[in-house]
Amino acid sequence: MDNWVLFGAKILKKQTQSESQVSATQVKVRVTHVLLSAYDALSYTGAAKVKYPKTIGRVAIGVVTDTGENCYGVNKGSRVYLNAVRPCGKCYACKSGNKGECTSPLVAGSDFDGFLRDFVVCDYSEVTVLPDSVDDMLALCIENVALAENIYDRLNLSTGSRVAIIGAGFLGSVLAQIALYHKLVPIVIDNYTQNIERLRNSGIFYTFAADDNLKANIEEATSGSMCDAAIYTSNCKLPLSVPASVLARKKDMVLGGFCTVNFALDTSPLFEKNLRIYSVSDGYGYTETAVNMLVHGAVDVSHFQKEILKEFNPEALLSDLAEKATQDSKMTVLKLIL
Ligand SMILES: [Zn+2]
Repeated sequence: MDNWVLFGAKILKKQTQSESQVSATQVKVRVTHVLLSAYDALSYTGAAKVKYPKTIGRVAIGVVTDTGENCYGVNKGSRVYLNAVRPCGKCYACKSGNKGECTSPLVAGSDFDGFLRDFVVCDYSEVTVLPDSVDDMLALCIENVALAENIYDRLNLSTGSRVAIIGAGFLGSVLAQIALYHKLVPIVIDNYTQNIERLRNSGIFYTFAADDNLKANIEEATSGSMCDAAIYTSNCKLPLSVPASVLARKKDMVLGGFCTVNFALDTSPLFEKNLRIYSVSDGYGYTETAVNMLVHGAVDVSHFQKEILKEFNPEALLSDLAEKATQDSKMTVLKLIL
């Protein structure tokens, strides 16, 4: 039984995981697929904060192999998504039975053990049962769809609003598709031509490079009114001046993504346009909504390049991903089941 534990920056060790019993409200899940994410890569390099030691792996699915007697809606053999964010159990909201409003949710791989291990024993409320129509690859997008939904909920835009999405990587693609699902107009900005090409082929009409023509292109696309919101995807590495430059006055600029953005920000455009800026870094509370949206075809991952590995060296993959994650939209999936 393997368990990949991070003990410090770039210190990842394979340990043996001992069998454990389930309590009345716990389930045991055999992990079948882990999606390697930029978040995992930055945790591995030490760029993202981790409370060591922690098992790495934020996004995973599996099959339930055992359940306690008081688990509801989850059965042996259920295919499940392992919730990547959990309530803290300690704050006022959690203690008064309102876990949905938890003020400090915990993240897998950082605050509690992640999922790159053979099995997980957790409370039955910490897994989400997957409908048959949500296949494994779609299920591995749940965390990104939930984050996107969290962002759009906060933006609260009306139909037809123009949303600039800065960065056309995996999250940028999901954000663009969810924008269309909500009848918004996505305008995707990236300098990585491969990502732009792929998005165009998937039906995103407005895609631009972050170059000298950007302002003119956005004016043209929005009949001069500029964008109603801008979402800067945290690992895209485009200048942080881009979102402010494409927004109309008094609009929202969101820093979205699982990784932190560490940039010095020129605040003068924010003052000039009276912009509001905030960050959204998880999809806590939106997992079920995300599953429902996937059932209704909100996201198509068929155009993503996929790499499904049955044998792997996580250290090499994570180092590689940490360098490329900024641009890639490839899904690297580790298949754990024997
Ligand atoms: Zn809490």
